[in-house]
Amino acid sequence: MREIGHFIGGKHVAGTSGRISKVCNPATGEMQATVALASVEEIRAAVENAKAAQPKWAATNPQRRARVFFKFVELLNKNMDELATLLSKEHGKTVEDSKGDIVRGLEVCEFVCGIPHLQKGEFTEGAGPAIDMYSIRQPVGVGAGITPFNFPAMIPMWMFAPAIACGNAFILKPSERDPSVPLRLAELMIEAGLPAGILNVVNGDKAAVDAILTDPDIAAVSFVGSTPIARYVYGTAAMNGKRAQCFGGAKNHMIIMPDADMDQAVNALMGAGYGSAGERCMAVSVAVPVGEDTANRLVEKLVPKIESLRIGPYTDDKADMGPLVTKDAYNRVNGLIDRGVEEGAKLVVDGRGFKLQGYEDGYFVGGTLFDHVKPEMDIYKTEIFGPVLSVVRAKNYEEALDLPMKHEYGNGVAIYTRDGDAARDFASRINIGMIGVNVPIPVPLAYHSFGGWKASSFGDLNQHGTDSIKFWTRTKTITARWPSGIKDGAEFVMPTMK
Ligand code: NAD
Repeated sequence: MREIGHFIGGKHVAGTSGRISKVCNPATGEMQATVALASVEEIRAAVENAKAAQPKWAATNPQRRARVFFKFVELLNKNMDELATLLSKEHGKTVEDSKGDIVRGLEVCEFVCGIPHLQKGEFTEGAGPAIDMYSIRQPVGVGAGITPFNFPAMIPMWMFAPAIACGNAFILKPSERDPSVPLRLAELMIEAGLPAGILNVVNGDKAAVDAILTDPDIAAVSFVGSTPIARYVYGTAAMNGKRAQCFGGAKNHMIIMPDADMDQAVNALMGAGYGSAGERCMAVSVAVPVGEDTANRLVEKLVPKIESLRIGPYTDDKADMGPLVTKDAYNRVNGLIDRGVEEGAKLVVDGRGFKLQGYEDGYFVGGTLFDHVKPEMDIYKTEIFGPVLSVVRAKNYEEALDLPMKHEYGNGVAIYTRDGDAARDFASRINIGMIGVNVPIPVPLAYHSFGGWKASSFGDLNQHGTDSIKFWTRTKTITARWPSGIKDGAEFVMPTMK
């Protein structure tokens, strides 16, 4: 059995804590590896390596730091098939979808190839008599990232690319459910020319996370995962004097106005609701048709498409979606479907009990559709994180707008309409971070920033885009005057520009 350890100081090292977790193939339920769960001492070893390597890396000129990422992007493309297969084998998503996961991370690496420009400071000549003032952006030192299972390539790259490009060293604590791709990314970073110790990958669970959150040498922590853990990580990191950005769960709505192109809306819902088996933080899990006629047309068109979803293992290159990630996830999603039935929602397509011949022990759940879901139901309030779409019927636009506005989460939302006024009003009034107008999964590209509002995000700065450069650097402002500009005598009054 393959034993997955850590990557510290540029080398693979075996775990020493004696604690492990199983890594299964979600399509078959078979255990395919074990992953070591780090102790406080192992986190400490990674931090020591990072701390020792960081000053030299920070002093490396930004063009040279950028060149590592130019090379890394080349290596990602060269190894794309191998990486995507490795990812699918542990996560369960289709290989094409895994490529999307990798490419969305690769794009952040492309963005940070511009670090010489992105990290430039500001300069004011003559801010006072013979005084110049300038601000520089220095790396925070050692940063850490804690990532979820659902994007094991993209989210680690969201974090380590800007952090490292800015001159920091980095400790990545990936999800223990699919740890192989993050380790492979670290190997490729070394191959691209990154000095040893700048990117360390330490596998683990809560014990490793707590060791990161209390380590005095880690200056900043980036987290992506479920809301309860995001809230915990944010609070604990802040209490320990660290900068933190923590992104949580979601319940993304799609409003379908009566004038929407129904075929486009239905296709968008299929991809956004069932792609990656609904295990995306930007998946659409609630459809809100406006008016009874819109709702009836929507459900009528959705049903045959959901019933004909092709569900298969990652080796089936025609599959639309794969299994859920673990047995626990499988049980949880099935339990929530049961709950929806108990609560009185109308189960129009039932994905429970879906079995794939030859893969009977896989964690597959079929595409599921609930109609007549009400805002007070648990299946509406909870993030299901599976292939389950809920239809909440709204009488009019205001009632539809009110639903995502009042929901606990605020990650993404979409409106399907041909009416520019309605779309503009919606984008302006909604209290959600990422808005799609006739775009179902409005994940901003690498040069804009990604982040939700409300319980989907804790902290001030978003992932990637210029926010990430701000997050991974500290501003230092220098006020300089040379002796020829200094008047004789002491000044006792607060200097002003009066
Ligand atoms: P999770 O919260 O279970 O795990 C995330 C990370 O936290 C993992 O590295 C895990 O090891 C660690 N962790 C788990 N329990 C912990 C604990 N008690 N104390 C400290 N650390 C702990 O999330 P997941 O199931 O891996 O991922 C799915 C969740 O992530 C969903 O809620 C999804 O919406 C969310 N997500 C959000 C975004 C976003 O950008 N907002 C993106 C992707 C996923």
